[in-house]
Amino acid sequence: MSRIRENIARVKETLLEGVTLIAVSKTKSPEEIMEAYAMGIRDFGENKVQEIEAKYDVLPKDIRWHLIGHLQTNKVRKVLGKTHLIQSLDRESLAVEINKRAEKMNLMVDTLIEVNIGEEEQKAGILLKDLPEFLELLRNLDRIHVRGLMAIIPQGSLEENRYYFRKMKEVFTDLKKNESERFTMEILSMGMSSDYEAAMLEGSTMVRVGTGIFGSRNY
Ligand SMILES: *Cc1c(COP(=O)(O)O)cnc(C)c1O
Repeated sequence: MSRIRENIARVKETLLEGVTLIAVSKTKSPEEIMEAYAMGIRDFGENKVQEIEAKYDVLPKDIRWHLIGHLQTNKVRKVLGKTHLIQSLDRESLAVEINKRAEKMNLMVDTLIEVNIGEEEQKAGILLKDLPEFLELLRNLDRIHVRGLMAIIPQGSLEENRYYFRKMKEVFTDLKKNESERFTMEILSMGMSSDYEAAMLEGSTMVRVGTGIFGSRNY
């Protein structure tokens, strides 16, 4: 078995019930992605619009592409209809643009709100204190369905990781009380190669594993 296949078999063994595995394939080739595909993986994560576009064209159409990186407003129209889930809904201008484009294309767009749980300045995502206002805006954007939350937690010790994962789970549970037709808390996307097992123990329902499947990335 190839290294990629071995890695997937190992990760799959550790997945808790009900957790979806996203294979983060940024910088990886279609051939490498097809190795994962052969192991039954259908959910792939990318952080660049150009990469999704290129891979979308040459790879099987039953792949579900997840956008997990910063999305520029001028590229929104390129990914709508090609992405299964935009996990990086991180600001008002992006929400407004997605809604506008989706209306023109007559689409509903599934998203996760990216939360900057560690309040890190260099990171994207909505701060907890700004969430109520953001949710209020989303109520009027009727082409956007929020299906949950995504977080990239600060680097730190296992204990610190668990603290942030737990905090995310609390926010997620709290927001469940606000559910409506276009706002449902189904997906809590947190945990990467180094910490996804801790994330699952704290309630993650979707883990995003890159290097743990494909090996290190060459940029
Ligand atoms: C690259 C990336 C991952 C995967 O990281 P690994 O450490 O390679 O598992 C997960 N989530 C996001 C948002 C990423 O950009």
